[in-house]
Amino acid sequence: MTTHETHSIPKGEDGLLALDQVVKHFDISGGLLDQLRFENGRFVRHRTTVKAVNDVSFTIVPGETFSVVGESGCGKSTLARTTLGIYPPNSGRILYRGKRIDNKNAQQMLPYRRKMQMIFQDPYASLNPRKTVMQTLEEPVVFHNPTISSSQVKDRVAEVMSQVGVDPKWAGRYPHEFSGGQRQRISIARALMVDPEFIVADEPVSALDVSIQAQILNLLMDAQTQRGLTYMFITHDLSVVQHISTRVAVMYLGTLCELSPARTLFENPRHPYTQALLSAIPKLGRRKGDHIKLKGEVPTPIHLPSGCVFHGRCVHADRRCAEEIPKIRSAEHGVIVACHGVEEGRL
Ligand code: ADP
Repeated sequence: MTTHETHSIPKGEDGLLALDQVVKHFDISGGLLDQLRFENGRFVRHRTTVKAVNDVSFTIVPGETFSVVGESGCGKSTLARTTLGIYPPNSGRILYRGKRIDNKNAQQMLPYRRKMQMIFQDPYASLNPRKTVMQTLEEPVVFHNPTISSSQVKDRVAEVMSQVGVDPKWAGRYPHEFSGGQRQRISIARALMVDPEFIVADEPVSALDVSIQAQILNLLMDAQTQRGLTYMFITHDLSVVQHISTRVAVMYLGTLCELSPARTLFENPRHPYTQALLSAIPKLGRRKGDHIKLKGEVPTPIHLPSGCVFHGRCVHADRRCAEEIPKIRSAEHGVIVACHGVEEGRL
């Protein structure tokens, strides 16, 4: 199979949310004294930068569940936070319904803040232990609708609590009085309180018991159907992704390797890294010998490899892979892949 033309950079006009060549690096150099090294008789200043997200572009379509997968440390959370404006990108553009939001100040971001909500991995850490459920849930509503009456707020809290499966009569309780699953339901309620359009869920079930995970996933899927929500779903757990995703983006070392409709990705992964990731899932009926073992270790995002960031671990890599950064290109069936081997038709 060969690939077609270079995938045009998404402009975001048709999408709900689009990233266009987004870069997010963290400067971890520390103070000036930490940065100075004595070399050849003089002091030289060295900066250390974690290259967490590198030149990432995609468009999320209204109503879809867009999952981002990859091993721990590949930049998923940074991507999620940058998408929502929690971290400003170093470069690139973020568009919401075709309008740039990465260059807006706090006041200009307010209408977007209501539309874009986040659910975190650890509901206990993300809920204020000193606030009752009522206080936690009414806060965003009052913030975004200062003229709303207190009885309207209370009705709204009760309505959303019922929707997420927490009895409204517990609104006076504190987070520690709930189980992990119930706390995550309350976190979801907090996100839903302001009628968002777009929710970024960062590993929302990873901290929960397996038996509870399915309930929370079902709750998220039901809320999506009832409210027409669009999700960006961050996870390292591919078995979760398979069931809930419309499309899946695979990241390695802060770089987008492959973006495919979920079914296509699981049936016919194109990028060698995606193939290795999927081969590690026992559930898919693969034999033990099918597990693709990658050579070497994941390089540090402080010193990114040249060319394709995956080339040092890829059994198919050649000289071009070591020298030239592969461009994101569209292949068949809505697949987008960044791999010289796929482009050349040898993979
Ligand atoms: P993931 O969510 O895939 O586990 P992260 O986005 O959390 O990955 O991290 C990507 C890389 O960026 C890691 O090397 C991590 O140590 C680094 N990183 C994340 N947040 C910060 C930060 N605030 N300051 C410095 N480095 C960070």
